[in-house]
Amino acid sequence: MFPQTRMRRLRYGKLKDMVRENTLTVNDLIYPFFVDETTDKKIDVASMPGVSRWPLAQAVDAAREAYDLGIPAVLIFGIPKTKDAEGKSAYGDDDVVQAAVRAIKAEFGKDLIVITDLCMCEYTDHGHCGIVNFETHDVVNDLTLPILGKIAVSHAKAGADIVAPSGMMDGMIEAIRSALDENGFENTPIMSYSSKYASVFYGPFRDAADSGFCFGDRSEYQMDPANSDEAIRETELDVLEGADMLMVKPGMPYLDIVYRIKQEFGLPLAVYQVSGEYAMIKAAAANGWLDEEKAFYEACLSMKRAGADMIITYYAKELAMILAEK
Ligand SMILES: [Zn+2]
Repeated sequence: MFPQTRMRRLRYGKLKDMVRENTLTVNDLIYPFFVDETTDKKIDVASMPGVSRWPLAQAVDAAREAYDLGIPAVLIFGIPKTKDAEGKSAYGDDDVVQAAVRAIKAEFGKDLIVITDLCMCEYTDHGHCGIVNFETHDVVNDLTLPILGKIAVSHAKAGADIVAPSGMMDGMIEAIRSALDENGFENTPIMSYSSKYASVFYGPFRDAADSGFCFGDRSEYQMDPANSDEAIRETELDVLEGADMLMVKPGMPYLDIVYRIKQEFGLPLAVYQVSGEYAMIKAAAANGWLDEEKAFYEACLSMKRAGADMIITYYAKELAMILAEK
């Protein structure tokens, strides 16, 4: 009790550093970027200042920027030159992600971990994460699973170190694990987007990945922002199906979920600081209302405190620079 106990005693100078409970390091960071097969030059994403779509020919340059700053991993999204109802451009050996992965792995080998986002929505002309029944406007779960398996195998064949399925189809981890194992990729880990919410904070990403949808939204397969017990059930299934790493997406509005998932499962956990979180801080900073660097640092440190092991952030390069100076 006060006055015997005074919490302020430990809040001075170097002592404060000594008793710090959580830290952010460059090894926590994963740099996501978009490889765009429809362009020859870098295209800036208007709603995400500082973020670009990279032409396929510059995929290695994008990865190098992260690598040179000591960031251990990149997460690749593809924007294909053709889209159709079945997402056929998602799994060809020479499609955009496969070609980008091959080029990046040829350059960096084991020194850079390449994670691939694994979904259909960037490759379908309707923008949904699976096969659509156009009579019912329903995304048909079970018809989608074998295609996810096929995409996973094509990514692994190209050299992806980790595949990260993001479509929130039931049974997707099992389908992907089996497909990988049957094709000799039993050592390829799966990072599941295990608690992915139907969030408004993905808005700017849709500009970046060109993945809006022509009808409905994704709330019939992504999670309801009102729920947290459901995240435990959803994640438990992914763990049972063989997920090696878990994810919570978005980050800052869902730190309670991050905490619960880490406590409950103890598996390596990634948190995705999504495009809307990025855009909010950028916009506030542009208006002079927030210190950009400190705001990103604190937001990401908060994710560590909640239980994250890895943070996927569009600000990864800037954070790596900030951390190098600390
Ligand atoms: Zn998707």
